Amino acid sequence: MNKFVKHPLQYSNIAPLLLIFLLFFHCTGNPQSAQEFTKQREQMVKWQIEARGVTDKRVLDAMRKVERHLFVPPELASYAYADQPLPVGYNQTISQPYIVAFMTEALKLEAGSKVLEIGTGSGYQAAVLAEICDSVFSIEIVEELGKKAKALLKVLNYNNIFVTIGDGYKGWPEFAPFDAIIVTCAPTHVPDPLKEQLVEGGKMIIPVGETNYQELILMVKKKGRLIQQAVLPVRFVPMVDKNKNMY
Ligand code: SAH
Repeated sequence: MNKFVKHPLQYSNIAPLLLIFLLFFHCTGNPQSAQEFTKQREQMVKWQIEARGVTDKRVLDAMRKVERHLFVPPELASYAYADQPLPVGYNQTISQPYIVAFMTEALKLEAGSKVLEIGTGSGYQAAVLAEICDSVFSIEIVEELGKKAKALLKVLNYNNIFVTIGDGYKGWPEFAPFDAIIVTCAPTHVPDPLKEQLVEGGKMIIPVGETNYQELILMVKKKGRLIQQAVLPVRFVPMVDKNKNMY
């Protein structure tokens, strides 16, 4: 017999080992090291965010720092730094990293700014904001999502983020006025209560439009009036009331 032709039994010895190896990686979700995630975050900032024109150092630093993989479902952690939105359950999504950075930069936040966010979702955008400004007030209408985000942000020691469950269309009058407002779900018009709760000179960024297509509108309040400018076409989940009717 040719000595280079292996006996079939030699292969069948390897097969179970291979199976155990594959099963291990399948069950553990192919764990990536913190170092690997850090590298992916660096690349995300460089290729998805800086390359598209975001220059504010505080925004870039926040995007480098906040561990996006902790805000997505564990089985999607390996996609956390990809150039796309991801599902977070309850038919909702965490926005594409570039959109988070773009919207944050557009608000031109200062260290002392108090920000209102509508649509807490995973809590990721709130964490990015909280790295830059004084305090973040965030409203989520899906109770389970709001509770989950609140718990995660607490574990991560974000003591300057306040999450409440409710209808963000109405804003959060108790803590108004806000220096900036960021809306991460899309109504068909700009809610009046949000206009009222913006401080003089403050900025609001909000996607406005129909279900599958909206314009991101940047507004600034000058002498009590809102001056607006469309800055980017986007696709966000709709803003809904407690009966799931779209605004
Ligand atoms: N900012 C989030 C992504 C938001 S997705 C993040 O960083 O992960 C949009 C969110 O808006 C969803 O969680 C949705 O439930 C919420 N939402 C929709 N209508 C709302 C409303 N009227 N008030 C508050 N939240 C609302």
